[in-house]
Amino acid sequence: MSINVTVWNEYRHELSDEKVRAIYPDGIHGAIAAGLQDHADFVVRTATLDEPDQGLPPAVLDSTDVLLWWGHKAHPEVPDELVDRVQRRVLDGMGLLVLHSGHESKIFQRLMGTKASLKWREATDKERIWIVQPGHQIAHGLGEYIELPREEMYGEFFDIPQPDELIMISWFTGGEIFRSGCCFYRGKGKIFYFRPGHESYPTYFNPEIRKVIANGVRWARPVDGPAPFSGVHPANAPLEPLPPEND
Ligand code: ZN
Repeated sequence: MSINVTVWNEYRHELSDEKVRAIYPDGIHGAIAAGLQDHADFVVRTATLDEPDQGLPPAVLDSTDVLLWWGHKAHPEVPDELVDRVQRRVLDGMGLLVLHSGHESKIFQRLMGTKASLKWREATDKERIWIVQPGHQIAHGLGEYIELPREEMYGEFFDIPQPDELIMISWFTGGEIFRSGCCFYRGKGKIFYFRPGHESYPTYFNPEIRKVIANGVRWARPVDGPAPFSGVHPANAPLEPLPPEND
C-alpha cells in the first residue's frame, strides 16, 4: 500500500541566500523529496509557504499520510488556522516529521505544549548521532552512529516533554549533547522530531540521513483503526447490564 508524503518547507533561505541556494538549488524540500523518491511505495509531493493556502489547502492535507515540516525564519507567518488544521489531522492519525529548526514552529510547540527552545551555535562542530534504540523501526539499517563532518550545534536543555521514545542522542565537538531523534504520540498520530538539517550544510543529501527520514515516514504512517474521532463523545452505553439504582 502506498504512503502519501508531503514535504513542506518555508523555502526562504534558499531564495534569499546565495550560499544556501548553491547547496540546495531545488530547495531543501526538493532534496528531501529526492531522497524519498527511491522508495517505490512513497507518493511524494512538496509544498511551500508562499504557495496558495501555504501549500496545504484542505484537499492536500486531507490526502497526506505523513507530513514533513522544515521551517526557520518564517514561523510567525504560518497562520494559526493552518496550525489548527494540521494539529487536527495529527490527532486523527496523520504522521508528522518535524525537522531541525522546525523545533520552534507553531505546530511543534502546539503539539508539545512547550516552547521547545534549545542552545545553538553555528561554528565548526562535528555531529555524532548515537543510536540509543537500535531495535526501533526508525533505526533500521543504521550502524552504531551517524557522523556529520559539519553541522550547526543544538544543545540541551531542549524544552520538550519527555519523549515517548528516544531513538538518538547527538554529541558535538564543543562538548554538548542533544536528544536528536524523539518520538511522540498525540491522539492517533505519531510525531518524529529529527535534529540535523541546517540550511548551510548538505545534510539532506547524506544517505544515512535520508534513510532515517524514510524510516521515519514508515514509522509515522497512519495505522488502520477506528474511524477518526470527531470531537464529541456521546454518553457511553454500558457493555453489561448495570445493577438497579437501589441495589
Ligand atoms: Zn539551523
